[in-house]
Amino acid sequence: MKIAILKERAPGETRVAATPETVKKFSGLGLSLAVEKGAGLAASVTDEAYAEAGASIGTAAATVKDADIVLGIQAPDLKLLKGAKPGAWVAALFDPFAARNVVDAYAAAGFEALSMEFMPRITRAQSMDVLSSQSNLAGYKAVLAAADVYGRAFPMMMTAAGTVQAARAFIMGVGVAGLQAIATARRLGAQVSATDVRSATKEQIQSLGAKPIFVENVAGIEGEGSGGYATEMSEEYQKAQAELVSSHIAKQDIVITTALIPGRAAPRLITDAQIATMKPGSVIFDLAVAQGGNVEGSKPDEVVVSHGVNIIGFSNTPAHLPADASALFARNHYNFLSAFWDKEAQRPVLDEEIGGAIRLTQGGKVVNERLLGA
Ligand code: NAD
Repeated sequence: MKIAILKERAPGETRVAATPETVKKFSGLGLSLAVEKGAGLAASVTDEAYAEAGASIGTAAATVKDADIVLGIQAPDLKLLKGAKPGAWVAALFDPFAARNVVDAYAAAGFEALSMEFMPRITRAQSMDVLSSQSNLAGYKAVLAAADVYGRAFPMMMTAAGTVQAARAFIMGVGVAGLQAIATARRLGAQVSATDVRSATKEQIQSLGAKPIFVENVAGIEGEGSGGYATEMSEEYQKAQAELVSSHIAKQDIVITTALIPGRAAPRLITDAQIATMKPGSVIFDLAVAQGGNVEGSKPDEVVVSHGVNIIGFSNTPAHLPADASALFARNHYNFLSAFWDKEAQRPVLDEEIGGAIRLTQGGKVVNERLLGA
């Protein structure tokens, strides 16, 4: 059985879907690995390192020829998959709700598209969960990027020349990225507060030594939907949240927003009027900028200065940590395929819980219920 790893071609994408470590592990299962020349360079992995681990190195066409499985970070252009076996699996990020046309084209081409972002949030699948592995790094990088633009220091410093005050950092959205943003801002010495619509996060915020900022006493609200994800909130809640944020945000130096709702545009958390109340020189990092943005006026990969406040956000934050992001993504791929490895069949055989959740296309059709119901 052959696995192909292509060089990623999306603008700004620096990651790669396998590392020498996972090439060795796949080889241990008896699989042959083909890696496109230069595929790992942006993530500091040389062709020689892949070759030493047991992969063959070649052109895109040679890499894909007769492949049973193609592993990617982002779904490869179908043109690159000519020569792969009919019905080959392609496991990558498909952004299925936004890029439905790509999913349809994969179905028409007869490939089995496996959407790594649809991996269920269950304990058994934690080691295969690319959203978690990448969000964790993104939360860390968001704080560092904000610290870089901020014209002051994060920690309190008492020096002979006088005292530097600690920065106040506010994290909005306490999922995987938000928790890491809290921890990172704390490590840098900021005074940290955080908010979320899911009340379960209150304790998590406190356990990281940060202050929870929560809407209280709004009836009939449960912010947690299926799979632990956030749901869209009622108008009453949104109004109460906006008021709370308005009073809190004016005192903050750093704000990191991470709020996402699967399959929908990111919720707007900060308006232009709220930005106007912040101190000049403050920094907002909008981790949801590529999904429409939590912050009014944020633009991907730009520093927008609005009312003296710097608003930043990367279109692809994990790609700013290419080596670690690739290492973790590659392990997610390996953990996924090896968990379903069938020794007798000498190929992975997916079960319904995970296979059914992530399989987008099969037998020439779109088969994913979540997508078909959207
Ligand atoms: P996410 O990226 O979907 O969203 C980020 C955070 O934003 C979430 O905490 C969400 O509640 C919050 N949010 C959404 N709308 C908001 C609003 N209007 N105001 C404030 N906050 C808002 O989240 P995620 O990191 O993917 O985590 C989603 C859930 O999955 C969590 O419950 C997490 O604990 C769980 N999880 C489970 C596993 C597992 O068991 N395998 C792995 C990772 C995450």
